[in-house]
Amino acid sequence: MAPDWLFGVISPDWFDRYVHRFELQRFPKGLGAQEALRRQVGEDGWHLLQAAADEHAPQSVRTCPSLARLQQVWNQHFERVEGLIRWRDGPAVESAERVISPYETDARASRKRETEWVGYKVHLTETCGEEDAVHLIMQAELTPATEQDVEETMPLLDDLQARDLVPEVRLVDSGYVSGDVLAKHAALGIELVGPLKQEGGWQHETGYGASAFQVDWQQQQVRCPQGHLSQNWCPGRHNRGEEVIRVSFSAVTCQACPVKALCTKREKHKGRILTLSPQPVHEARERRRAEQRASPFQERYALRAGIEGTISEGVRSHGLRRARYRGQSKTQLQAKAIAAAINLVRIHQMLQRTSLGLSPRPKRPLSPFARLRSLLAA
Ligand code: SF4
Repeated sequence: MAPDWLFGVISPDWFDRYVHRFELQRFPKGLGAQEALRRQVGEDGWHLLQAAADEHAPQSVRTCPSLARLQQVWNQHFERVEGLIRWRDGPAVESAERVISPYETDARASRKRETEWVGYKVHLTETCGEEDAVHLIMQAELTPATEQDVEETMPLLDDLQARDLVPEVRLVDSGYVSGDVLAKHAALGIELVGPLKQEGGWQHETGYGASAFQVDWQQQQVRCPQGHLSQNWCPGRHNRGEEVIRVSFSAVTCQACPVKALCTKREKHKGRILTLSPQPVHEARERRRAEQRASPFQERYALRAGIEGTISEGVRSHGLRRARYRGQSKTQLQAKAIAAAINLVRIHQMLQRTSLGLSPRPKRPLSPFARLRSLLAA
């Protein structure tokens, strides 16, 4: 890109500093030297961007998309305060917006429990049910790595609906379950089977979480575990936008309560405030928490385990976690192609087996050690 212009903008020491790609370089030892290099990189970036924005810079430079990306990454990491370039104190943008790699600008950094990665999330939906029936992948959808699984529960259902493939029962991982999506599925007559995460908040640990309170939706009143009735019932919105009901208890009653320390940390002259979801969401959540403690729920949910094998097959045999292309749309296409390839292999296997009078789906093979038993018995 415009080498003549570039030679006029930079100084010879740039060739020493950027002699190798940065990830292949050895970083200087010592915090002071590292800090100096970091500042120098920030100043170099600023200098280059200023020169590129100059009206005398060639048109190809001023409109170059790579420089626009460099500006975005520079802003993520550096700032200019009183004429000095410095490393930014805190993130400039949300992680959903943060560019992580100059080679794959759609990729985002994410973390799930102990696992950290850069890229996307792939959501697979597979048929399951009878042990003998062939299981086929119905969806392989890609989303940015920073998106929560539960944000995809309804869009994935919409996609199944659009293809006339809505199941009576959906088995999902706990990440895809919330009171809201349980209530929406119930309203559509679809059973969503998946465990709900435990209630959050310190009061859950002391036994004074929301589920310990009895709600009378008709009277718009709540009875606390100590048997006292609430004073106010105020419908409103959470700062994330969803509908909530704020229920408050009498300050006098709460201040005199022998278990106050287990229930509220509000200062003097204030009583406990309880935030409830709307009735269908609250009840769906409470129902699920009661169900998931019982063994019939666990047995039904165990059917979902098959998808873990399919994910493993996609990852180990077909490179589902390695994007061979750049950009979300091409990586999405790769995921769909892998899902289609797995389905074709399964269908081929089913046709072969049924032509031989065997069940459509092979049983899990026994280990060589387990096969010893039949040899011993013979
Ligand atoms: S602190 Fe108030 S709301 Fe909590 S149990 Fe005591 S009286 Fe009930």
